Amino acid sequence: MAGYDYDLFVIGGGSGGVRAARVAATLGKRVGIAEEYRFGGTCVIRGCVPKKLYVYASQFPEHFADAAGYGWRVPEASFDWPTLVANKDKEIARLEAIYKSNVDGAGGETFHSRAMLIDRHTIHLLGEDRTVTADQILIATGGRPAPHPALAGHEHCIFSNEAFDLKQLPKAIMIEGGGYIAVEFANIFHGLGVETTLVYRGKEILSRFDMDLRRTLHETMEKKGIRILCHSISEWVRRNPAGRLDVLLSSGKTLTVDQVMLAIGRLPNTENMGLEGVGVELGKTGAIVVDEYSRTNIDNIWAIGDVTHRVQLTPVAIHEAMCFIETAFKNNPTSPDHDTIATAVFSQPEIGIVGLSEDEAVKRFADIEVYRASFRPMRHTLSGRDEKMLMKLVVDAGTRKVLGAHILGPDAGEMAQLLGIPLKAGLTKEDFDRTMAVHPTAAEELVTMYKPNYRVKNGERA
Ligand SMILES: Cc1cc2nc3c(=O)[nH]c(=O)nc-3n(C[C@H](O)[C@H](O)[C@H](O)COP(=O)(O)OP(=O)(O)OC[C@H]3O[C@@H](n4cnc5c(N)ncnc54)[C@H](O)[C@@H]3O)c2cc1C
Repeated sequence: MAGYDYDLFVIGGGSGGVRAARVAATLGKRVGIAEEYRFGGTCVIRGCVPKKLYVYASQFPEHFADAAGYGWRVPEASFDWPTLVANKDKEIARLEAIYKSNVDGAGGETFHSRAMLIDRHTIHLLGEDRTVTADQILIATGGRPAPHPALAGHEHCIFSNEAFDLKQLPKAIMIEGGGYIAVEFANIFHGLGVETTLVYRGKEILSRFDMDLRRTLHETMEKKGIRILCHSISEWVRRNPAGRLDVLLSSGKTLTVDQVMLAIGRLPNTENMGLEGVGVELGKTGAIVVDEYSRTNIDNIWAIGDVTHRVQLTPVAIHEAMCFIETAFKNNPTSPDHDTIATAVFSQPEIGIVGLSEDEAVKRFADIEVYRASFRPMRHTLSGRDEKMLMKLVVDAGTRKVLGAHILGPDAGEMAQLLGIPLKAGLTKEDFDRTMAVHPTAAEELVTMYKPNYRVKNGERA
């Protein structure tokens, strides 16, 4: 080991890479980490963090409107996009500095450079025109928005990366995609006053979430004024003489907007990194293939996070980093646990879920009970906002175990985090029932739904 410059070299300074580098350095390992763009990676620079800040920004018009029912008269509000972008930039610059200094402070060495593999122990740092060697190499290069070269006029389109930093807020936007990024941005732009159309090829937005929530969110977004066109794709995008964009949809309809944002999936960053030369196995979409310990087919090369295309979420990349440290440096082989991951969609209203959707549970269990509550949250009584909150527990009738919890409504993401604990622990519906309610809250519904609304036995609703 002494023959190498580093015990560990990490490629990619995002959520997973920075965590692995920092913890390995804390253990006394000689660590280097290269980041080609900005430390913090997707989550901090152009993902979770700026997205959530923009979600907050976009919620104010509803808060102003809701205030009237509580006796407030709010003068007409105005919004300044450049102020939001500049304040967001300040905040992510602060976080970026913390990410880098956490590695430096732990004794790791940070490089602002693209890195590629020369052989199984040698890394070329392109920005420094320098080569370093390492005993263990961790690839944590994340992913990027999938391009859509088949779309005529794709060069006029933007992706989530650019959406954060538009020079000016468009008057109208079309977003193509039905995943959480598309849905969240549709709500953000709509909240900021942009005429928003969401175009999705599937039958309902947010595939893989519980159908009840998907439909209710769809209806609520439409009620707010977001146009959602399912079973639809764009055929071409053209700049018109007025400088706006015309989009022909598969339905034959044409939209005229100022921006088209594509959110049709993400691809792993594995190109031009020397992986093929070293013989690192890649999967169909270019993701790095790893075993249950995040080890590639080359035994000193590991990969974690989005680049492995397992579960593409920040806490998962961090968890995989911690498991990698246990396995590679603590002689304690530990597989990441990808089961029962709580997650949120920061749509408006928000979604928070953990565990199996009703449809998934029906496929896997012969007899399930569904507890469901749909109600107007208390805060909307005086505000007069016509928006329902939806909560659902999916229970295995045999073992009484709660298999899934699904929430649509204010603070659903916060609730999902806490529901992750009982579901991970395998608690039963009776454990929920024995838990005292916190009153008055929306979350109390979760422990007061005593009777199932319906049962599904062998796929048949009873
Ligand atoms: C718009 C958006 C919103 C999101 N919202 C959420 C959310 O709310 N919650 C959530 O949990 N997740 C969210 N995610 C997903 C989350 O950001 C990712 O799952 C997470 O960042 C993955 O971490 P990672 O370490 O695998 O990769 P990344 O964070 O992507 O880091 C990879 C880094 O590697 C660098 N890199 C790539 N190639 C090289 C190279 N050859 N040399 C040097 N450096 C290189 C990149 O510049 C990048 O900084 C969101 C993503 C997007 C795009």
